Amino acid sequence: MMQTPDPDDPCAGNPDCQQALAEIYGYLDGELTVERRTIIRTHLDLCSPCGDRYTFETELRQVVSMRCQESVPDALKNRIAEAIRQEMQG
Ligand SMILES: [Zn+2]
Repeated sequence: MMQTPDPDDPCAGNPDCQQALAEIYGYLDGELTVERRTIIRTHLDLCSPCGDRYTFETELRQVVSMRCQESVPDALKNRIAEAIRQEMQG
Protein backbone atom coordinates (compact mmCIF):
# COMPACT_ATOMS: atom_id res chain seq x y z
CA MET A 1 0.00 0.00 0.00
CA MET A 2 1.25 3.44 -0.93
CA GLN A 3 0.68 5.93 1.84
CA THR A 4 2.75 8.86 0.54
CA PRO A 5 0.73 12.06 0.90
CA ASP A 6 -0.01 13.71 -2.41
CA PRO A 7 -0.24 17.51 -2.12
CA ASP A 8 -2.66 17.60 -5.06
CA ASP A 9 -4.94 15.01 -3.48
CA PRO A 10 -4.78 14.96 0.31
CA CYS A 11 -7.36 12.14 0.33
CA ALA A 12 -5.19 9.77 -1.72
CA GLY A 13 -3.38 8.11 1.16
CA ASN A 14 -6.07 8.49 3.79
CA PRO A 15 -8.06 5.32 4.51
CA ASP A 16 -10.87 7.37 6.05
CA CYS A 17 -11.23 9.28 2.80
CA GLN A 18 -11.10 6.13 0.69
CA GLN A 19 -13.88 4.64 2.75
CA ALA A 20 -15.98 7.79 2.72
CA LEU A 21 -15.67 8.13 -1.05
CA ALA A 22 -16.39 4.45 -1.58
CA GLU A 23 -19.61 4.80 0.39
CA ILE A 24 -20.75 8.13 -1.00
CA TYR A 25 -23.17 6.46 -3.41
CA GLY A 26 -24.65 4.30 -0.70
CA TYR A 27 -24.95 7.42 1.41
CA LEU A 28 -26.73 9.31 -1.37
CA ASP A 29 -29.03 6.38 -2.03
CA GLY A 30 -29.89 5.99 1.64
CA GLU A 31 -28.58 2.44 1.60
CA LEU A 32 -26.35 2.73 4.65
CA THR A 33 -27.19 2.07 8.26
CA VAL A 34 -27.64 5.05 10.56
CA GLU A 35 -24.28 4.23 12.10
CA ARG A 36 -22.49 4.26 8.73
CA ARG A 37 -24.27 7.44 7.67
CA THR A 38 -23.09 9.19 10.83
CA ILE A 39 -19.50 8.15 10.17
CA ILE A 40 -19.62 9.34 6.55
CA ARG A 41 -21.44 12.57 7.44
CA THR A 42 -18.86 13.37 10.11
CA HIS A 43 -16.01 12.76 7.69
CA LEU A 44 -17.61 14.93 5.00
CA ASP A 45 -17.94 17.75 7.52
CA LEU A 46 -14.33 17.47 8.66
CA CYS A 47 -12.62 16.79 5.34
CA SER A 48 -13.19 19.50 2.75
CA PRO A 49 -12.00 17.52 -0.33
CA CYS A 50 -14.47 14.77 0.50
CA GLY A 51 -17.14 17.34 1.32
CA ASP A 52 -16.58 18.96 -2.07
CA ARG A 53 -16.89 15.59 -3.73
CA TYR A 54 -20.14 14.96 -1.95
CA THR A 55 -21.48 18.37 -3.01
CA PHE A 56 -20.52 17.60 -6.60
CA GLU A 57 -22.32 14.26 -6.51
CA THR A 58 -25.41 15.84 -4.98
CA GLU A 59 -25.56 18.58 -7.60
CA LEU A 60 -24.96 16.12 -10.40
CA ARG A 61 -27.88 14.02 -9.22
CA GLN A 62 -30.11 17.07 -9.05
CA VAL A 63 -29.21 18.04 -12.62
CA VAL A 64 -29.85 14.54 -13.88
CA SER A 65 -33.15 14.23 -12.06
CA MET A 66 -34.33 17.64 -13.28
CA ARG A 67 -33.44 16.98 -16.90
CA CYS A 68 -34.65 13.43 -16.97
CA GLN A 69 -37.67 13.44 -14.73
CA GLU A 70 -39.37 10.58 -16.50
CA SER A 71 -36.54 8.11 -16.66
CA VAL A 72 -32.81 8.17 -17.06
CA PRO A 73 -31.55 5.59 -19.54
CA ASP A 74 -29.31 3.07 -17.84
CA ALA A 75 -26.66 3.68 -20.48
CA LEU A 76 -26.49 7.35 -19.51
CA LYS A 77 -26.37 6.60 -15.80
CA ASN A 78 -23.60 4.12 -16.41
CA ARG A 79 -21.64 6.63 -18.49
CA ILE A 80 -21.88 9.27 -15.77
CA ALA A 81 -20.94 6.80 -13.06
CA GLU A 82 -17.99 5.63 -15.11
CA ALA A 83 -16.81 9.21 -15.75
CA ILE A 84 -16.95 9.96 -12.03
CA ARG A 85 -15.14 6.76 -11.18
CA GLN A 86 -12.34 7.61 -13.62
CA GLU A 87 -12.06 11.10 -12.25
CA MET A 88 -11.83 9.75 -8.73
CA GLN A 89 -9.02 7.45 -9.77
CA GLY A 90 -7.19 10.44 -11.21
ZN1 LIG B 1 -11.63 12.85 3.20
